[in-house]
Amino acid sequence: EDPWQDEEYFGSYGKLRLHLEMLSDKSRTEAYRQVILSNSASLRNKVVIDLGCGTGIISLFCAQLAQPSEVFAVEASSMAEYTRQLVKQNGCEAVVTVLQGRAEEIELPERVDVLVSEWMGNCLLFEFMVESVLVARDRWLKEGGVMWPSSATLTLVPCQANSYYAEKMAFWEQPYGLDFTPLQPLAQQEFFTKPKFSHLIEPDDCLTTPCDVLCLDMYTLQVKDLEVLWVFLFIRNGSTPHTLVMVTNIALCFISQEIKGQFHFCLEKSGVFHGFTAWFTVHFESLETGGATVELNTGPNSEPTHWKQTLFMLDRPVSVFAGDSISGNILLRRNSVWRRHMTVTLHWSINSSTEETDTTQVGTKSFPMWR
Ligand code: SAH
Repeated sequence: EDPWQDEEYFGSYGKLRLHLEMLSDKSRTEAYRQVILSNSASLRNKVVIDLGCGTGIISLFCAQLAQPSEVFAVEASSMAEYTRQLVKQNGCEAVVTVLQGRAEEIELPERVDVLVSEWMGNCLLFEFMVESVLVARDRWLKEGGVMWPSSATLTLVPCQANSYYAEKMAFWEQPYGLDFTPLQPLAQQEFFTKPKFSHLIEPDDCLTTPCDVLCLDMYTLQVKDLEVLWVFLFIRNGSTPHTLVMVTNIALCFISQEIKGQFHFCLEKSGVFHGFTAWFTVHFESLETGGATVELNTGPNSEPTHWKQTLFMLDRPVSVFAGDSISGNILLRRNSVWRRHMTVTLHWSINSSTEETDTTQVGTKSFPMWR
């Protein structure tokens, strides 16, 4: 079987369901529109590749809002046939050329000034379309060319998830006055083993200020970096809660194929620690030096997107108190067989100090996404 599962993957993009979901996502689509609009003057006479163009929306924005000399709209799925019609229907065929094929394999007549793509998945990396973007960058982007997005960040926060916990786990405590708790291990296995995609966390359910655990630079990131361990230690000091200190630990680079980020949270309120919520933000730098950066933030303090957030539930909730600290690390380990999948492992320790006692509780849990 194909480790990239291309038949299934591109099969789903040959249908409308996902395109409808993405195009209906205003925050997402408007962010790309804004990038083109705010760079329209500098896009004049530039050559653009729209990698994974889908219905061609980004290419059409380029052709309608700016005057690039050429836009190569590359799409592997059978949607490309329709994209060609949409380009014509909207009078953009002089500028936009639709090429059907895998970005890794297509040939272009020239290198490009701008590589634009909407490649982000759940928890940023899931589906690993980012690999296709990096391969195409190295083949087709001119020296000094621009990547959109230019950088990507993964953010994590310890959180409450009262209603999800109530709905899937506490439910068994006394339905219709009966004790169904023997089903709880099954419930844990069925509902909390994998991360919950499409979770919308209320800002109020964040137990503290979120912390960036991974930052990818789309110019320097290499395919092999997705495999090997990268260690970013982001330490948030209790007394200066907004200072991020980044330390790279080279010794740990030899452990195995994984991406790892360390965190330290100091809880700002008391509550129930049900799990961690993750989301991503991407930045689009301006073509002009000093020009404004456009941001697409999929976190709880921004307009919801179709990605929503990703919830990682602990097996057992823990009562926590303002002033407690939660530290640990997150590891993203790409599946060595199934190239679009990864396992996210969280290690944490909760430190609680009162006048009388000092307690530490540790935990660890691995979440397959999906294999
Ligand atoms: N750009 C569109 C679609 C984004 S979804 C929009 O913003 O609405 C990602 C698209 O990239 C899908 O249509 C998928 O089929 C395509 N894609 C993913 N990997 C690809 C690859 N390696 N080569 C070509 N197309 C790819």
